[in-house]
Amino acid sequence: MRAVVFENYGEFPSLTEVPKPEPGPGDALLRVAGAGACHSDISVYRLFEEGQPGAQKPPFVLGHENAGWVEAVGPGVSDRIEVGAAYMAYGPIGCGHCRQCAEGRETYCENAATMPYLAVGLGRDGGMAEYVTVPAHHLIPLGDADPVAAAPLADAGLTPYHAITQALPHLHGGGRFALVIGLGGLGQIGVQILCALTGATIIATDVKEGARKRAEDSGAITVGAGPDQVERIRALTGGRGVDAAFDFVGAGPTVAAAAACMAQGGRLSVVGIGGGTHEFSFFTNPYESYVTNTYWGSIRDLWEVVDMYKAGQIRPEVERFSMDDALEAYRRLEAGEISGRAVVTPNAR
Ligand code: NAD
Ligand code: ZN
Repeated sequence: MRAVVFENYGEFPSLTEVPKPEPGPGDALLRVAGAGACHSDISVYRLFEEGQPGAQKPPFVLGHENAGWVEAVGPGVSDRIEVGAAYMAYGPIGCGHCRQCAEGRETYCENAATMPYLAVGLGRDGGMAEYVTVPAHHLIPLGDADPVAAAPLADAGLTPYHAITQALPHLHGGGRFALVIGLGGLGQIGVQILCALTGATIIATDVKEGARKRAEDSGAITVGAGPDQVERIRALTGGRGVDAAFDFVGAGPTVAAAAACMAQGGRLSVVGIGGGTHEFSFFTNPYESYVTNTYWGSIRDLWEVVDMYKAGQIRPEVERFSMDDALEAYRRLEAGEISGRAVVTPNAR
């Protein structure tokens, strides 16, 4: 079968033939409906070096945002998994036995250091292929919902959902402000989730005008780039600052801008892996404010993200690419030319 393979550190992936996988014990074989191209994949193949945090040893098939139809199951899988039905796949894979894994937070597995890979599509073969194997207990039924549009929810939906729900105590209570920086795959869905879960005023920013326009359509007030960006954002809050900020870029300038917009007691979540740093000391931060990072989300979170999608509260904007054009999806993502999420559809006819 054809697959998008990350072959060597620092190299653009290739579209190549690999053997069709077979489901091992506890696994399901998915015929892939959609595999989202996440900006993190660019870090995986362009930036990371062996041994660096986040680096996963090549070669493996990319694609950690997957949905598809169950084709077969391996030994020991419950017959509650319905062959032929559409499912969303939760990507992170922990040891399955520690306290974090027991609560479905495989992202924060206490034994991650001894695991051979991070996730399906991150160290273990992913869904940018006609078929992928996934742990069967990571499958969430999609029912009649479109599995192609659903695919990005596995990361571009789950990651903002997790970051936002951790920050909800800061956003409830009336008169609150949220700031979303970076309106790509994650940020656009982040705005939709904030709208659905809070009454906070949502301020959003991106360097791209089209991305700001789409966020406005979802209910945000937007601010463009520029030297007075922080003053404009603070002015929208009446000068007090934002109660929660979500930086879906995480570069030096965006972390600095977010930090400068925070209200007392606010929570800044750095989600983007752009490498920006932040000084935290007594006089450099508003009183009782928090700076944190969040990584992906739990399987429990993903069940709710799927419900929000089925309820129409999350409306992923997807651009579909055939398997022939799978590498083009990554080229355009790198060039900043994708709006919403690029989804590769290996089995589209
Ligand atoms: P994307 O390429 O789809 O979107 C990025 C957006 O940020 C684009 O709209 C771009 O125009 C905008 N942007 C870039 N620089 C900017 C700047 N200086 N100011 C304002 N906007 C700017 O990316 P994505 O897939 O949504 O991923 C976003 C980030 O989150 C990446 O760093 C990715 O690696 C990271 N990520 C983190 C997690 C996690 O678990 N923490 C999970 C998935 C992705
Ligand atoms: Zn674990």
